[in-house]
Amino acid sequence: MVFESIKGEARAKKMILGAVKNKRISSSYIFYGFNSSEMADFAREFAKLLNCADLCGKCQNCKKIDLNIHPDFVVLQPEGKKNTIKIDMIRELKERVNIGPTEAEYLFITIIGADQIEQEAANSLLKILEEPPSKVVFVLIVSNINNLPKTVISRCQCIIFSGNEQITEENVGLPNSNSIYDLLQYSSSNYPVSKENDRQEALRKMESILYTLYRNKDFDKVYKTMNAVKMLKNNANVKIVFDHLFLSLGGWIR
Ligand SMILES: [Zn+2]
Repeated sequence: MVFESIKGEARAKKMILGAVKNKRISSSYIFYGFNSSEMADFAREFAKLLNCADLCGKCQNCKKIDLNIHPDFVVLQPEGKKNTIKIDMIRELKERVNIGPTEAEYLFITIIGADQIEQEAANSLLKILEEPPSKVVFVLIVSNINNLPKTVISRCQCIIFSGNEQITEENVGLPNSNSIYDLLQYSSSNYPVSKENDRQEALRKMESILYTLYRNKDFDKVYKTMNAVKMLKNNANVKIVFDHLFLSLGGWIR
């Protein structure tokens, strides 16, 4: 089964599977969420999917990617005292990208903690992303998208990971009230959500906020709002959730 090891994230799975099936693969993606290791696992499955149609787990591509020894599966992560992605790392990456895939169909580059990239390195990365070589796919894994230059963000297709529920730029299927209620229901089974007026009102409000933010492509705020939904899901106090959301959106809700 494709993406068997990844729980939830149905939209991301559908989107990636659709892209691979229709051969409409972007050259660069941003995976945005709190759980970097889950996103890195997702990226690994994506790499296998590109290089082995049925993720057999047995061929050379699958095996080597799983063991991190595939020459066409490159993973970068922050290094050194400052724990950053440095210019030298991007220079080296550029050389590797110029060679292209050697064994598999695609060269797959995952940058974990891409939001910890130094300015000079970001500029250099941007140049690579601006002229994407064929058969090379980048995945930038970030927890704080505000640390990534807007120019880099604009080159990438953004996928937001938010626990079991996430939104993608591609997938305009916004969570409607039903799906938000579902989300709430299944994780708080002993809480009578449907009888809680405040909570329903809060969710309705969040839905309209989400819709506006989504239309404005304000993914950082979408993500914060999704987190507020998550807090409600965990039975947090409605007022506290709203106060928190209000603060984190910078007083955006009126
Ligand atoms: Zn395989």
